[in-house]
Amino acid sequence: MDDKAPPQVSSQSEVEKTQRELEALRAAHTRTLLEKNLLQHAVSDLDDQHNAPDAILSLDAEGRVVYANSYFLEMMGIPSLLEMINLPLPAAMWADQVEAARFFQDVQTSGAVRERELSLFDHSRQPIRVTCSGITTKTADGQFAGIELVLREMSKAHIFQRELLQRNALLEAILASAPHAILVLSPSNNLLRANPAALRLFKLEPGLEHPSIESVMRNVQVSADLIDSIQQMLQRGETFRCDIHIGPSAFILQGAPLQDNQAGWVLMLNDISSLKELDALKTRMLRMASHDLKNPLSIIVSYTQMLLGLPNSEEQRTYLNAILQCTTRMFGIITDLLDLERAKAGQLILKSIELKSFLQEIVAEYETQTADKEQTLSIELLPDELTIDGDVEQLREALRNLLDNAIKYTAPGGTIQVTLRQEGNHARIEVADNGCGIPSGALEKLFQPFFRVRTSETINIPGTGLGLSLAKSIIDAHNGRIWVQSQEGQGSCFFVDLPIARS
Ligand code: ADP
Repeated sequence: MDDKAPPQVSSQSEVEKTQRELEALRAAHTRTLLEKNLLQHAVSDLDDQHNAPDAILSLDAEGRVVYANSYFLEMMGIPSLLEMINLPLPAAMWADQVEAARFFQDVQTSGAVRERELSLFDHSRQPIRVTCSGITTKTADGQFAGIELVLREMSKAHIFQRELLQRNALLEAILASAPHAILVLSPSNNLLRANPAALRLFKLEPGLEHPSIESVMRNVQVSADLIDSIQQMLQRGETFRCDIHIGPSAFILQGAPLQDNQAGWVLMLNDISSLKELDALKTRMLRMASHDLKNPLSIIVSYTQMLLGLPNSEEQRTYLNAILQCTTRMFGIITDLLDLERAKAGQLILKSIELKSFLQEIVAEYETQTADKEQTLSIELLPDELTIDGDVEQLREALRNLLDNAIKYTAPGGTIQVTLRQEGNHARIEVADNGCGIPSGALEKLFQPFFRVRTSETINIPGTGLGLSLAKSIIDAHNGRIWVQSQEGQGSCFFVDLPIARS
């Protein structure tokens, strides 16, 4: 027998005993580590960290919790530090784990203090918003040792303020990069804000002391009449839009009251110069085509009339009458189109017009027509004279269109009433009828070219759909306003406001 043979592990119980001893040793080691950590923090940082007004969390190089102060435990609803010590920080603690990981990486690579707003979930999954500052800690030989975090809980007011600031910054960025000029006015029509595009357009210095909109417009030579009309629209307190020229460019100016005009106005200017050029090209082509069509058409009309004067069979007369009716209608459309383009071009021959006699003259033209239809046509005028500056021919055309329509869309026996009154510094003309009225869904499109209401009552009434758009172009060119109130089946009232001439 060999006495020096190695001792044999003789039984199962001895293996278990050795394992137990090993585990005990490992546990003792962990405890020592834990106590060492706790002791370290307790001794060195007790005063400033444990009772610090912010939550403090220390992680080692592997992301395990080395220390958390009582504020952190309280904030997160964790009963004891022992529950997390030496354990990795639970990923589910972060509402956005990708954002949190990015933050840790940023802290680690920058080597400097980094701060970010983050959202956490506490022990009972309640969200907490914090500002989280982090810095890396290093070993004596400069190796990465871990991360120290300071978490400051954000109050509701703080979060709200942050959101407000962010929203403000977004709004500022939108205003700054908007290609349109945007102006914000106070309720007394003074300029409160102008975005960079507006500052450039109106040649304004940033930080001006709230000039009036009048002086802002005068600064870029907007005409006195247009400034007046803009101020009147602002006074009315309703959304508006109008054309405006500044330097060589054409714009559409749109105004909208802020909170029903309690907080002022926002004005936006949209550059439509290129559209205007296209429009001018279209007008030139339309005019050329219309002129070229007018001549052959008038020849057809006169030959047809001549043929109708000759002896014809009944059948021939029917065909000739149909040709005459169609060509006359085509003639009407071409004339309306040409008139519309002329009115849109805004070429006005201004004269002083006394509205009472002007209206009486126009209404008188319709006496026979209304009498034939057994309609009552009445006119109600002011006792005093009212003078405007306007283009006689064009205004006559606009008012005729309104009267034509009133007669056309009112059944025999109905009534048509024309009224003239003064509204502030405007003359207001009303053309009211008790005809078929206009469906509410059609009101918005009524002044668009070629728009016609198609109901059983109007389907057989001839028309081009150009009369009202022509009237609107004429009234707009006079810096006036045209609008309608109507009730289907009861009647309509068209209103025209025109600026009274300055004496
Ligand atoms: P139209 O040549 O068709 O009369 P307008 O531009 O003058 O063209 O009018 C557009 C449409 O508005 C008409 O087709 C009609 O349906 C409606 N309209 C205009 N005036 C009246 C009115 N006084 N009563 C009822 N409907 C009207």
